[in-house]
Amino acid sequence: MSKIYSNVMLDLETMGNGPDAAIVAIGAVAFDVASGEIGPAYYNRVTLESAVQGGGVIDASTVAWWMQQGDEARQEICRPGGVTIGDALRSFAIWVAEHAHDTEMWGNGASFDNVILRGAYARQGLQPPWAWWNDRCYRTVKALHRDVPMERLGTHHNALSDATSQAQHLIKMLAPRPPDGWAVMNEDGRIVTWYPQRDHASIIAAQHRPGAVLRAMHLE
Ligand SMILES: [Mg+2]
Repeated sequence: MSKIYSNVMLDLETMGNGPDAAIVAIGAVAFDVASGEIGPAYYNRVTLESAVQGGGVIDASTVAWWMQQGDEARQEICRPGGVTIGDALRSFAIWVAEHAHDTEMWGNGASFDNVILRGAYARQGLQPPWAWWNDRCYRTVKALHRDVPMERLGTHHNALSDATSQAQHLIKMLAPRPPDGWAVMNEDGRIVTWYPQRDHASIIAAQHRPGAVLRAMHLE
């Protein structure tokens, strides 16, 4: 039986910025704060037509914003394919039930992703796969730990890349400090970033961090 998680990082790509924004992609990863592990991932693109038919709202300023984003992220949400909003919501609920229990759902922030997704479930007459009291706000934690840098993985504004980067950043922010892991420091001895795990992959990542005048140091 596969591991059951209690945290999920959610990232939506939308065509609006209000509470009823039309959803065009849902990305999520399950994760474990204590072990620092990133677990199973969910990703689906949603057809804009179905999102709008389901009551999702397109906002002109968001469309203009999308036009200025990178090619890869833009093409991903514009290319043909994708599932209907109803199918995406149902499959996301099944995925959450399969991999998580009493799920704490993290959004960037809880007033954006969580509210928009919950509203989409309500408009489809479906039950969201997490309880309102388990809404968690990555944006707030980020504001409280401005000294912990985020390392972006994959494509910025791809829902799955964003969810994964955010989950790793959150794990790092919530890790005990100083971390029992590997710190990457600059020449002045200031910690630039760290890897809360002591596994081989973390050590390699620390040693290969781009721009490295940096040295990896074991903090134990
Ligand atoms: Mg995103």
